[in-house]
Amino acid sequence: MVSARVVIGVAALTTTLLLAWEVSRRSADHVVAAGFWFDAVTFEAPALDATRGGPLSASERTTVESLARAELAAAFAGLRLDVTSSRTAHYRVRVVQAFPPRQAIRGMAVAESRGLGAFGGEGAVDFATLAALAVRFAPPGTLRADLVAAIGRGIGRVAAHELAHQILPRGDLHATTDVASYDFGAIDRPGQFYGPMQWDLAGPRLREVLGPRVAAVPGARR
Ligand SMILES: [Zn+2]
Repeated sequence: MVSARVVIGVAALTTTLLLAWEVSRRSADHVVAAGFWFDAVTFEAPALDATRGGPLSASERTTVESLARAELAAAFAGLRLDVTSSRTAHYRVRVVQAFPPRQAIRGMAVAESRGLGAFGGEGAVDFATLAALAVRFAPPGTLRADLVAAIGRGIGRVAAHELAHQILPRGDLHATTDVASYDFGAIDRPGQFYGPMQWDLAGPRLREVLGPRVAAVPGARR
């Protein structure tokens, strides 16, 4: 009987902690952090052959990183989530050069995430595959600068999708049929890299969980 009581005690404590976390998360000015970073990416992209202008230059690599970050931040604009570079943030997505072959073979994953319950979640995105797809879906005559931008944009959009998996661990994120949405469950589509993108069914759910960002009132007391 003692052991049963201990178990109940632990369960009650866990529930209390979860409730406290839930309440703090929902308080009006709380903003949750998401970490996004390029993890020792070499930027090798065989798809960028001589006909496409060759390997990414140093400044193009910087452009890819900054556009990926900007795209990710834009996906969560207006919501209480800050995109940072922190590797210890509540939610985390890192970009790696390429997944090991074992992972690539299994379902051809190019991005993946795992939820960590009250501790957020973590995920990874495969740079090499994303770069190859950006080249494959480039409309004829696409300028080099637009191709570089598409690589960054595509990475940022996948990262947004992965963060949504972590923030919304329950329910089917892939339920949408809108190919121009972040929620869509496949990346082999031109819209992953080119043209506008928005949330579909996940939009209201993200808004409910994260909450809207309250605009600062000039002169208001803090
Ligand atoms: Zn997914």
